[in-house]
Amino acid sequence: MTLLRLAERGLYCAAGDFYIDPWQPVERAVITHAHGDHARWGSESYLCSRECEGVLRTRLGANAPIQSIEWGEAVTLNGVRVSLHPAGHILGSAQIRVQHRGEVWVASGDYKTDPDPTCTPFELQRCHTFITESTFGLPIYRWTDEAEVFAEIREWWRGNKADGRASVLFAYALGKAQRLLAGLADNDIGAVYTHGAVERLNRDYRAAGIRLVDTRYASDLPKGHDFKGSMIVAPPSAAGSTWLRRFGDLSTGFASGWMRVRGNRRRRALDRGFVLSDHVDWPSLTEAVLATGAECVWVTHGTREPLVRWLTEKGIQAKPIGAHWKGEDDDDPIEVAGEEIPA
Ligand SMILES: [Zn+2]
Repeated sequence: MTLLRLAERGLYCAAGDFYIDPWQPVERAVITHAHGDHARWGSESYLCSRECEGVLRTRLGANAPIQSIEWGEAVTLNGVRVSLHPAGHILGSAQIRVQHRGEVWVASGDYKTDPDPTCTPFELQRCHTFITESTFGLPIYRWTDEAEVFAEIREWWRGNKADGRASVLFAYALGKAQRLLAGLADNDIGAVYTHGAVERLNRDYRAAGIRLVDTRYASDLPKGHDFKGSMIVAPPSAAGSTWLRRFGDLSTGFASGWMRVRGNRRRRALDRGFVLSDHVDWPSLTEAVLATGAECVWVTHGTREPLVRWLTEKGIQAKPIGAHWKGEDDDDPIEVAGEEIPA
């Protein structure tokens, strides 16, 4: 039975008459997480996890028609049982489990299995059909241990401080930035300065009980403030902008899974790249997909073909599907409904 199918406006469940992360407005949208390519404006109703509600409201507006449910709680939509389970990607990110007449499908959204203090850990769901992302679906993608990455970041900052420079660390404003700010707590860096887009989302994370290092909104500081030796966290869109001038002499770093590929750092003219992703790497991806026990796997955004081939060789029915989601999209400008975000 085909419980979900790719329709013009998104991944559609005909039996339940709802869409998962639709890219065009629909009547009922079930949302995996609040990144811009998954949570789009204009639908008549949204269902998300309770943990996701704050950041989803930030993206869609305070009055957006959002209903949220607890992890594992089920709602019935036209006789189809829908429940949300942690995906471990960013705050509130969910896998969507759809059950109808004994058939179980799970749409993963974006996910990772590595530990992350800023969201509920990934919970594996057994299913008949698993719809997986494959943002980093190539064997070259293997992540470094998070503790090691944070040690590298700290060493970089220490060297810059000794040289009288500020350290500007670029990270996607929703999720990655807060993961860095959580990881930078409990050390000697002190308060971290932030760009407005990051600071706006820090509020939601703190409201959800996530502990971040103390932050200060950089634009609040008087002109001529001395940022020597400071750490600054900003979205990648701030790279090369006049906003950076206030920091004086600086070194730039970028925290992203894409930094695994050396050329990406050079291309962006960055001083340092730190490999930190909110997606599964190849070993975790293949392990998670096999552990679902799914006999059928649909592979969505990212490098799909190598994973499809790998699964096919294992005797699993696998196929790529053309969803409009983008994966670790560090260039997506963060939009906040009804608000102009100052730098
Ligand atoms: Zn995402």
